[in-house]
Amino acid sequence: MSQGATLLPKGEPLQLSWHGAVALLKPPGWDEAQLTAVFSTRLGGVSDGTYRAMNPSLSSGDDPLLVAENRRRLLLATGAADWPVAVVQQVHGAKVAVVSELSEVGWPLKSREQADAQVTNRTGVLLAIVVADCVPILLWAKSGQGVAVIHAGWRGSAAGVTEAAVQELCRLCSVRPDQIEAAIGPAIGPECYPVGAEVRQEILRNHAWALAETADGRVDLASLQAEILRREGLKPASIVTSRLCTSCQEHLLFSYRRDGQRSGRMAALIGLKKQE
Ligand SMILES: [Zn+2]
Repeated sequence: MSQGATLLPKGEPLQLSWHGAVALLKPPGWDEAQLTAVFSTRLGGVSDGTYRAMNPSLSSGDDPLLVAENRRRLLLATGAADWPVAVVQQVHGAKVAVVSELSEVGWPLKSREQADAQVTNRTGVLLAIVVADCVPILLWAKSGQGVAVIHAGWRGSAAGVTEAAVQELCRLCSVRPDQIEAAIGPAIGPECYPVGAEVRQEILRNHAWALAETADGRVDLASLQAEILRREGLKPASIVTSRLCTSCQEHLLFSYRRDGQRSGRMAALIGLKKQE
C-alpha cells in the first residue's frame, strides 16, 4: 500500500495493486468477485533494456521467451492463469470484435482478426489489448454481464472506435450506456504529445466539439476519450480517468514516443469471473 502511494502522483484515481513484484493499476471500486480488470505497468517482468521489465508484446522485437514468461506472470497476477486470452491485431481502426467461445487456454501467439476493441458477455475469457501511449479503456456493463476493452490512439479516436465499442456492448448485453462503468488508463499526456494540424483536422471531422481537447498543436487523448464516453451517454460519475502520462512516468510505464520503435507495451485486460 505504502509502496503504491510513493509511486503514484497525488490525485491519481487508479490504484496500484501488487502481486509479488507485478504491479497492476486497477479502477477503484470495481468488484473483484465479479471481474478482473487491470492495466499492467513495467514492473514485475523479466525483459531487459527498453523492454524492462513487464513487456507482454511480441510486436516490437523483444525476446519471445521473455515475453512468454511476462505473459505467464501477468495472467497469474490477474487471476486468469487458466483462461483463454482474446487478442486482436490492432490496426488503429474502429472495428469491434465480439468474442464468444475460445478453446485455447492462455495468450495465443497469433491474433484472430484485425480490430481495435473487443466485447464479450462470456465468463472466464480475458479480453486483451496492448498499448504504449495510445489510450486503453475498460468498460463494464455490470447489470448486463458484459465487458469491453478498447485501443484508442488518435486514429482510432478519429475513426470512432470508442463509440462503436459502447454501442456493441449495449447491443450484446441489452444495457443502456448509462449502465456502463468505464476506466480510462494511462496514455501520453498533452504536454508530451505535440501533433500536426492534420491530426486535429482528422479528429474534428467526426468530433467537431473537440476544440479544447485538440488545442495548441497538442492532443489530450484521455480528456477526448472521457468526453466521447459522456457524449455516448455514460454517467460522468461512472468514468474514471487516469492522469498518468506514459512518457513522464518512466519508472512505471512504457512510451513509444519516449523509447521509440523498440519500446515495450502495457496490457489492458478485462474478463468476467465464473460465478459459483
Ligand atoms: Zn508527459
